[in-house]
Formats: sequence, C-alpha cells, structure tokens
Amino acid sequence: MVVTRILDLALGLFNKRKPDVDEYGYGSASLLEGEVYTLVCFVSEIKKEGWSSDGKERMLALLEESQEWIRKQAREYPEVTVDFIKLDRTKDIIDIEFEKDDIPEGTGSEEEPVNLVSKILYAAGHKSTLEWEEEVKKKTGATNVQVLIFIKDRAGRSYAMASSDKMDKEEYFVEGAVLFEKQNDDTDLYSSVIAHEILHIYGAWDLYGTFQTEGDEEKLKKHNEYLGKSIMLKTPENIDHSKVDILTAWLVGWNKDPEPWFESFEPKPKSQT
Ligand SMILES: [Zn+2]
Repeated sequence: MVVTRILDLALGLFNKRKPDVDEYGYGSASLLEGEVYTLVCFVSEIKKEGWSSDGKERMLALLEESQEWIRKQAREYPEVTVDFIKLDRTKDIIDIEFEKDDIPEGTGSEEEPVNLVSKILYAAGHKSTLEWEEEVKKKTGATNVQVLIFIKDRAGRSYAMASSDKMDKEEYFVEGAVLFEKQNDDTDLYSSVIAHEILHIYGAWDLYGTFQTEGDEEKLKKHNEYLGKSIMLKTPENIDHSKVDILTAWLVGWNKDPEPWFESFEPKPKSQT
C-alpha cells in the first residue's frame, strides 16, 4: 500500500506536473505568468448609495499594491514573468447594482455564490462570457483574464471562484474573486487578502487548514521551515511580511522543481476562502 502510494505520488508529480485536481491550470486564469488582464467590478446594493470615488480609489490602491507584490515575488523565478495590464479606467472598471439577496454574505458558509462572474458579465451587457473572454485576450494580448469583484458595505470572508472542467463552461470558465470592503472582523480589507485570493484563482491552496497536523512531526517541520511566512497561511496587514512560498509558487506555475512532500499539503476538496 505504502509503496503504491509513493509511486502514485512520484508519477503524479512527474507526469502531470500538478496533482490530479481538476481546477488547477483550467479556466481563464490558468498559470500565473505572462500578461494578466483584470476586470474590476464595484458591486453595491440596488437603491442604496453606491461606491464613492474615494472608496473605489482605496480599493484600487490595495489592488495595485497586491499586484505589485506578486510581480516582485515572481522575480525569484527568473524564467517566469508576470505583468498585470494597467487598468483602462473607462473600460476595465464597471459598476453593478444587485438586489440584496444576490449579494454574497461572506460568511464562509461554503454556500457563497460561485457564479458571480458570469452574472456580472451578463449584467454588464455581454451575451456570452466565453466570447467576452476571447475578445479581451485578442484586444489586449493577455494570457490570463481575471475578474475582481469588490462588495460595498459588507464585512466578510473574501473568496475565490476557480473553474474546473466539470463545471458549465459558459457560466464558470471565467474566473475571479469576491472581495469584501471589510474583513469579517470589521478591519479594512488588506492588500494581502487580495493577493491571497488572486493566487487561489491560479490554483494556490489554503495552508492554514492543513497546519494543525497533530502528530505529524515531519509535516510540521516542513510547514515551519518552508511555509511559515506564506501568504496562503496568513494575510498580515503589511503584505511585505509575507511571501509566496515554494509550494504555492509550484501550484501557480513559477516553481518548476516540485518537492515530493508538496502533495501532503493538498486540502480536502471544499470551497476556498
Ligand atoms: Zn484562502
């Protein structure tokens, strides 16, 4: 049994590069390299006050900080380049109003809507999400397309919506993240949370869930040595206190040199927040 498992693990790593989990490498945001196009959507509740320009600027500054940090982190992998295409404020930032019930609560209940990207694209007047994505790639030369959705006046647990080949393509292929104006403890949104969710879109795993590995000394050692400062473990107020660890770097396509122990940190299938 043990031998088979190790063999599987090794074959998995060498043949497929990534574990056999369908969402990785699939969708409009596949590997975090090349040119990344971002559509920013400011969501507010219908008949209520929308986003102020100050509020929007605050979110855009955090987004800028998170993307700049990701770019810098990628420089540790010289064969990879990541660039986030500068936002064209007339086209790449949209406002959408939804009914109260259509806006996610951010409770981390695992019942958060994961089709928000397509809902937003339709609300913005696009007939097909797939045609929109293709058109964006053609126009901008982007290799990846992501949609970042900021929710006004709500404190919650931000979450990413990664696609898989088992999901309806028109509804789910275009990937994105939902970011609440405040975190669930009512502190302001941090740039590190945005970076954490962006990395999820490209396949990163949460590491905080797998940290408590009672009795597994080996895993704890690896965790502390290699993953302790990971942004997938903690999202500190100062983003410069965290880093993209070697496991996350592998999942998003930067680190081409996987360690056999990486897979032991794979979370059980569930929505990632
Ligand atoms: Zn997460």
